Amino acid sequence: MHHNKIDKRFIKFTLALILTAAVVAYLAGSEASAKQSPIIADKWRYPMQNAYCTWKQAPNMSWGSYRDTGNSRSCHLGIDIASTDATVYAAASGSVEAVGSHPTNGLYILVRHIMPNGKAVYSFYCHLARQTVQRGDIVSIGAAIGQMGTTGASTGPHLHFAIVDTPRQGRYNGYCHSVTGNSCDFLSVRYYNPVYVIERNQLP
Ligand SMILES: [Zn+2]
Repeated sequence: MHHNKIDKRFIKFTLALILTAAVVAYLAGSEASAKQSPIIADKWRYPMQNAYCTWKQAPNMSWGSYRDTGNSRSCHLGIDIASTDATVYAAASGSVEAVGSHPTNGLYILVRHIMPNGKAVYSFYCHLARQTVQRGDIVSIGAAIGQMGTTGASTGPHLHFAIVDTPRQGRYNGYCHSVTGNSCDFLSVRYYNPVYVIERNQLP
């Protein structure tokens, strides 16, 4: 009788231990799988609040519009935008690939994104006044990453925003001679129309 009581307590204690171990293992497992699964950039937004185009001769966000770059007319491979709110936000979830400075592009940030089809693309933010993220940071869509400015080859405060397939860490020439569709290959880099990507949440 006495032994039977002890056995029951022992069994209850053992069951509680097994349950606790199972819960701990489950929690550890779910945390590990959350860390391993890549962040998918299945949703995009404009990188500024109430963004407007700063290229006055273009009726829209200016992808592919011609402009005079000094000695020749050439085609813009991004969009120029500004807002009364100077904060620059991540256009989609991803990881910060590079934070740096470049003579033409000024202070810039490059964010790496994985599209739903598994393809990696990079969003490029340049002419910033300052960067508030570091290389390796994980950013969610809409996270504040910097402030709009006019660093590099810029004539006034605006954000030059581009989406590309090659991480060149600041060495982008944002102009080519013609753009006919929603993507353009130039100097071994494919540029995607940011307006298309943002409004459809997919690559052209
Ligand atoms: Zn531009």
